[in-house]
Amino acid sequence: MTNPSAFATCKSLKSSSTMPVLFLGHGSPMNAIEDNEYRRSWQAIGAEFGIRWPKPQLILCISAHWLTRGWCLTGMAQPRTIHDFGGFPQALFDQQYPAPGFPHAAQEISQRLQQPDSNAPVLLDLQDWGLDHGAWSVLKPMFPLADIPVIQLSMDYSRAPYEHVALGRQLRGLREQGVLIVGSGNIVHNLRALQMGAATNRSYDWALEFDQLMADYLQDGNVAALQDFQKLGALTQQAHPSYEHLLPLLYCAAAVDAGEVPQFFNASFQAASISMRSVLWT
Ligand code: ZN
Repeated sequence: MTNPSAFATCKSLKSSSTMPVLFLGHGSPMNAIEDNEYRRSWQAIGAEFGIRWPKPQLILCISAHWLTRGWCLTGMAQPRTIHDFGGFPQALFDQQYPAPGFPHAAQEISQRLQQPDSNAPVLLDLQDWGLDHGAWSVLKPMFPLADIPVIQLSMDYSRAPYEHVALGRQLRGLREQGVLIVGSGNIVHNLRALQMGAATNRSYDWALEFDQLMADYLQDGNVAALQDFQKLGALTQQAHPSYEHLLPLLYCAAAVDAGEVPQFFNASFQAASISMRSVLWT
């Protein structure tokens, strides 16, 4: 399944030094516009591209907020900014992130990615989606000029975790083609247990335990344990009543090599039940 060299023939992308992989805990959509430690960390990382790493030719974002039957890539030239939330101030709905798409690259990548357990390529979405808040709420602080093309990859929630890992493995080769892979979700995400205004060092025992377990698996490069998160039973049920916010982490962990050591940041909680722990592999 893994065939990084397949991407050497992507005509729309130039070869590059190996790009980092980022998993970002996005938390509240308000993080996009509030001055807080999370937004400041995204601004700081974004500022390092062009210095520590090359400026990405393309950002491939796997967001918790785009679930489809089969896997899709956005292929439009100008993806719209999607305000997929309710009950927030007008200032959040006024946000736009006019980063371009990259239709030629999307087409090439879609043909090179195989949907797990079939020979079918990933589907190209030319009109339905765009950039949801899982993508733009973190990318706008990182790259405020919106001058780097962004493609989103959806997730088929009906498929088993190991199949998400299988697709994530196929992304590895894109890192040699100037592509920054950004997974956007949360390592613990239970909206029923939110405690608004809770301090960032305050959480639940089950949330701390799940968060630490995932961190340990990542530290050990243990993708097999990571993809078996459902075996944790009741603990997983508490940390993720539904687990779409965890899945982007599997893509990121699968897109790195065994020797790449993760660096954690934002290892704190928002509203007690949202882990903001984020991971950089470089
Ligand atoms: Zn979310």
